[in-house]
Amino acid sequence: MKVLVMNCGSSSLKYQLLDMTTENLLAKGLVERIGIAGSFLTHEPTGKDKVRIETEMPTHTVAIKLVLDALINAEHGVIGDMKEIDAVGHRVVHGGETFTDSAIVTEEIMKAIVDCKELAPLHNPANIMGIEACQELMPDTPQVAVFDTAFHQTMPEASYIYGIPYEYYEKYKIRRYGFHGTSHKYVAQRAAVMLGKDPSEVKVITCHLGNGASIAAVKNGKVVDTSMGFTPLEGLVMGTRCGSIDSAILPFLMEKEGLSGKEIDNILNKKSGMLGISGISSDMRDIGQAMSDGNHKAQIALEVYAHYVRKYIGSYAAVMNGVDAIVFTAGIGENAIDLRAMICEGLQFLGTELDPVKNDVRGKEVNMAKDGSKVAILLIPTNEELVIARDTKVLCG
Ligand code: ADP
Repeated sequence: MKVLVMNCGSSSLKYQLLDMTTENLLAKGLVERIGIAGSFLTHEPTGKDKVRIETEMPTHTVAIKLVLDALINAEHGVIGDMKEIDAVGHRVVHGGETFTDSAIVTEEIMKAIVDCKELAPLHNPANIMGIEACQELMPDTPQVAVFDTAFHQTMPEASYIYGIPYEYYEKYKIRRYGFHGTSHKYVAQRAAVMLGKDPSEVKVITCHLGNGASIAAVKNGKVVDTSMGFTPLEGLVMGTRCGSIDSAILPFLMEKEGLSGKEIDNILNKKSGMLGISGISSDMRDIGQAMSDGNHKAQIALEVYAHYVRKYIGSYAAVMNGVDAIVFTAGIGENAIDLRAMICEGLQFLGTELDPVKNDVRGKEVNMAKDGSKVAILLIPTNEELVIARDTKVLCG
């Protein structure tokens, strides 16, 4: 069975074609600048040379048509006919409270996804465009929606209800949803495998540290708390997002600086976090370099980052009454060796002992804890596409 995985943004899309009999990757690629002058496709067929195709792509439909053409192309293609694609799995950011699992897209399901648009105005519309384009181009192929929020739907009310008047939850569904669910799900499952246990017997804290970053407490295979909230702004200090701050800062700043709601939202989402504190960059590599060069703000930014992660790990150990493994994943979690050491420094009280030699590693599955450490410290490269393809296979296989 062959599954095409689609991750559509407003002006870009990422794809992977997987053979789900073996879970082997057949091809992957990226389209950038959809709807903007200078659009191009980078297509990477497994075992063949990468190609770059430059052509105007005014819509997602045109972009996806080009992807399909690349997949069946005589030279750089990997399949003979589009009909070989048995199903398409789409990443959909927000599934609200409606979706606790992935779903085959029917008319009714599509309506429910459209209803979630208000909760994710920046993301869901692009995901919907991707589904509609695939429906148009491959009308006989089933489409599956896999939601970033779904894995977190097991949270108890105590974790997802905010301390604001309850009527706002009833009226507007304002509550904690959590994001990066497919990644947390993948690494939590792999963690159980690495511990040699069933997911239903372990308490895992999963740290997805990328440009966007979130932590989840996964107890017996179910999320019991997560750091992102109603939107992906809450929780950890991220590349450009502020994470959790005192909400009273908003009206204070709006008044002092004469800012509108939109403007403050833009500052907190795009100009804060590591970029805002350091004034240098949102990219961890630049900040690490600046710190080595003696830049004080870069050092503060890294210390704040590590402090937040450590604080969440401690609180999630309390939420679960213990922890068996802490998992690091995504760009920073998989690669930032010094930062992992900073985060783990001070967590020894939990029985967490990082081995500095084993920590000197990037991007491969390994337990970085010292022999005898009560809590495992796992590096697990994430694979969101594989989760999407597996869910698609389960529903359509
Ligand atoms: P996203 O998918 O959220 O855009 P990624 O998971 O790709 O983000 O993570 C991007 C982050 O990973 C950036 O801050 C980048 O600096 C960091 N990163 C990547 N490689 C390294 C590295 N070798 N050392 C430190 N940080 C790294």
